[in-house]
Amino acid sequence: MSEFLAPRFAGLSPYVPGEQPKDRTYVKLNANETSVAPCPGVARALADPALVAGLGKYADPHCLPLRETIARVSGFTAAEVFCGNGSDEVLGFLLLTFCEPGSKIAFPDVTYGFYRDYSATYGLDWHELPLRDDFTLDVDAFAAFEGTVVFANPNAPTGLAVSPDEVARICAAHPERLVIVDEAYVDYGSQSCDALTSTHRNLVVVHTMSKSYNLAGAHIGWCVAQADLVKDLNDLKFSFNPFNLSAPTMAVGIAAIEDRAYMQACAARICETRDEVADELRELGFKVLPSVTNFFFATHPTLAAADWCTRLREAGVLTRYYKAPRIDNWLRVTVGTPEEMAVFMRETRRILGA
Ligand SMILES: *Cc1c(COP(=O)(O)O)cnc(C)c1O
Repeated sequence: MSEFLAPRFAGLSPYVPGEQPKDRTYVKLNANETSVAPCPGVARALADPALVAGLGKYADPHCLPLRETIARVSGFTAAEVFCGNGSDEVLGFLLLTFCEPGSKIAFPDVTYGFYRDYSATYGLDWHELPLRDDFTLDVDAFAAFEGTVVFANPNAPTGLAVSPDEVARICAAHPERLVIVDEAYVDYGSQSCDALTSTHRNLVVVHTMSKSYNLAGAHIGWCVAQADLVKDLNDLKFSFNPFNLSAPTMAVGIAAIEDRAYMQACAARICETRDEVADELRELGFKVLPSVTNFFFATHPTLAAADWCTRLREAGVLTRYYKAPRIDNWLRVTVGTPEEMAVFMRETRRILGA
């Protein structure tokens, strides 16, 4: 650290993304990405000569065509949609806009690591509410908490979801505090809470194109909420970085959201592969949580998860291991293509000696 770093940031421990090593070709099952191409409209949008010709000008800072497209497809108006450079940026703007330094925020003890990192960045007073023993969300604890709450639904790395009724109960318990629901994985078999925003004005639902739209490299996220909350978010955005999405990025996003059928077909294929692989692992003695995401969380009675991860890596297969309390004998494995998962299963069988 240099002597110029603002003292309030001296204790930060920045998020460590899933590794992207280049020393050899890996089967990458460690960052919940896909190796499948986005919908054909994306390539067409990027090849549009008008897009290239217009690059000398700033893109629309209101992101209106993108917001209108998202709104139309998901049953909102553009005034109820806020767009960010990935859902990470949307989450960042949410906490910047609606939380004071020192204010209380809660998230599960086992969840997406970024919630803790943002809380540290913004100097929030964060509380980690333990998941129940079976790794499900403790809905009562979230309902009772007096302060902002944020959780991924379905949760990562567990892959488990709660119902919109339970989210509604959390919102209704304390209408004066904000409830942020991160639906990064909602397209893989759980129910969205989007519609609840009309009746619960303290609810914000966050989405991303990084997973189900096969667009992690474009990094596009959005949230839906009542229009006055979106106005607040935009006011903060215009006070920080008005041009947060580039013109090519927005063109890609519009093309992708227009072709929801492609996204749904890709997601359905992943769900099918996920359930097949989970069954194969269970036959080998693994315990696999019943995932509604594009990854699964698994453990084995005799094969330590850390060794499983290391030996898969030596065989060219990357997975995500967390050396953290409660989950240090579990491995999170992204569901790739059937071919990628065949390599994963072959190597897992070899490691087990099965
Ligand atoms: C991947 C992920 C994100 C980040 O999405 P981006 O849009 O790529 O920033 C957010 N939340 C959860 C729970 C995720 O797993």
